[in-house]
Amino acid sequence: MRAAIFRNGEIVVDSLPELKPGAGQVLVKTLACGICGSDLHARKHAHRMADMAKLVGRKPMDLSRDVVFGHEFCCEIVDHGPATQGKFKPGTRVCSIPALLTPEGPQGIGYSNDNIGAYAEQMLLSEALLLEVPNGLSPQHAALTEPLAVGVHAVEKANIRGNEVPLVIGCGPVGLAVIAALKINGLYPIVAADYSPARRAMAEKLGADVVVDPARSQPFASWAEHAAMSEAEKAARPPLQAMLPPLKPALIFECVGVPGIIQQLFEGAPRDARIVVVGVCMESDRSEPMLGIMKELNVQYVLGYTPDEFATSLRLIAEGEVDAAAMVTATVGIDGVAQAFADLANPETHTKIIVEPWR
Ligand SMILES: [Zn+2]
Repeated sequence: MRAAIFRNGEIVVDSLPELKPGAGQVLVKTLACGICGSDLHARKHAHRMADMAKLVGRKPMDLSRDVVFGHEFCCEIVDHGPATQGKFKPGTRVCSIPALLTPEGPQGIGYSNDNIGAYAEQMLLSEALLLEVPNGLSPQHAALTEPLAVGVHAVEKANIRGNEVPLVIGCGPVGLAVIAALKINGLYPIVAADYSPARRAMAEKLGADVVVDPARSQPFASWAEHAAMSEAEKAARPPLQAMLPPLKPALIFECVGVPGIIQQLFEGAPRDARIVVVGVCMESDRSEPMLGIMKELNVQYVLGYTPDEFATSLRLIAEGEVDAAAMVTATVGIDGVAQAFADLANPETHTKIIVEPWR
């Protein structure tokens, strides 16, 4: 079968041996797979990613061997391996969290030498993790379940009380998923900042109430304009707190993932702000702890999602509660993956590119 393979630091197209499902596994045909920012990061910072995996006790990628990326997928059942229930007939469209259940425990799909990701014509999934795609949802849109789940999880981890005013920094796929999840949770107004006009427009489509161009106005200043306490809230404050600016609690989502952003947030955030770090910065970074200390900032790092959050995300897309389709800006075949990686560098042209291996 054909696949776009990460080999010697580049994405190349080649043939791989056919796959055979093991116990509890199904063989699937890959219908659609989103290209994730993490895949771009992984290509650029593969060695660092492997080093960090070792530090947290995960099996690192062996970069001298092939890796097939692709963890945002929708597939079709082809065949069942031994010890399966046959719950879904061949031809059924399914999604799954990108993990394979093995006798040694769960293993990731997509950043692994052993478990082929979805930039290939076929892959193996664990039957126990499959979710049927409902409502005749197209594979392209079902493939957006994974990136939406990242936002759903980030908002879940924020422990929302209901009175916060959120500020989303960065409106790439991660920021957009966070905005969609905030909307579902009913927070208002959602303030979002991005330098790219195309991404700001997309943020509005997904539910941002106020969009800010950081080149023109300071995101925290715009946030403060929309975070004023009501007279009743002001009056209810105890005496010491009443001496602080009358602003609602700040809930900041960092969705950029480059060095320097955390320090900018430490500088701009109001006292007692909660910062949820969703952006994946792959390099060493510097921030001044004293700023966090003096403002008593609360920083929550997040990764991935739970199986329940994943299932919820598929349902939100299938029922039209989230217009995930708005994120898709192009589709390519396996031969187009390398160019798509290059094209994704321009935020004006692309948000989410979907790979359709059988195109
Ligand atoms: Zn992803």
